[in-house]
Amino acid sequence: MIELKTPAEIDQMRPAGRLVAKVLAAIREHAAVGVNLLDLDAMAHQMIRAAGAESCYIEYHPSFGASPFGKVLCTSVNDAVLHGLPHDYALADGDLLSVDFAVSVDGWVGDAATSMIVGTPDHEDERLIGATETALQAAIEVAVVGNRIGDISAAIGAVAANHGYKVNTQFGGHGVGRSMHGEPHVPNDGRARRGMPLRPGLVIAIEPWFMAGTDEIYTDPDGWTIRSADGSRGAHSEHTVAITPDGPVVLTARD
Ligand code: MG
Repeated sequence: MIELKTPAEIDQMRPAGRLVAKVLAAIREHAAVGVNLLDLDAMAHQMIRAAGAESCYIEYHPSFGASPFGKVLCTSVNDAVLHGLPHDYALADGDLLSVDFAVSVDGWVGDAATSMIVGTPDHEDERLIGATETALQAAIEVAVVGNRIGDISAAIGAVAANHGYKVNTQFGGHGVGRSMHGEPHVPNDGRARRGMPLRPGLVIAIEPWFMAGTDEIYTDPDGWTIRSADGSRGAHSEHTVAITPDGPVVLTARD
């Protein structure tokens, strides 16, 4: 079922979006050579508790998951691109880290992701991250009343194609509201002018993720972490976006 929010409900979603932005900003600040993924997760957990919020991940147990996720952040490093399960790993110089984070505040969810390079940047990694950011921005620009889901998908796919990246459409964006994942699915590639019309009150997570060398993935033995089939690096950028008569509102925007 597609859930459309009233303007008042969209306002009620703002605190969750702001908290997501604040935690991701803190992660960006603290992620450095030698920092352990478990410490980043613990820091995010502390911020959730301090805000009186609830993690959307810690008890998350979908059909494809071996057990509840157990952590509050997804930390995907290098060839890991989605759903990275935080583990005892100290970040190394040049690592590409993607962090996905969702919380619920007063019953409403915010969901966003960002990618960063730890230490010395590699040009190809910067280009890959930049492509996901450009695709996210292009997608947000067409997230307007009168367009369709396919316009968002096509905008993302076009940026990927311009950069020479293939798109995997097994995982993509989704409706966000009182739960983290709802309809509609927002594929990261598709045809313009197709799919569901975008209506005022639709709130969706838009989340382009690309891998440098492939569109194929596999699941790590940890049961969660999604890795590129060829070992090439991945990047991921995501915002929760409300579609309103006045245009798209990015609920997880950094100040
Ligand atoms: Mg997310």
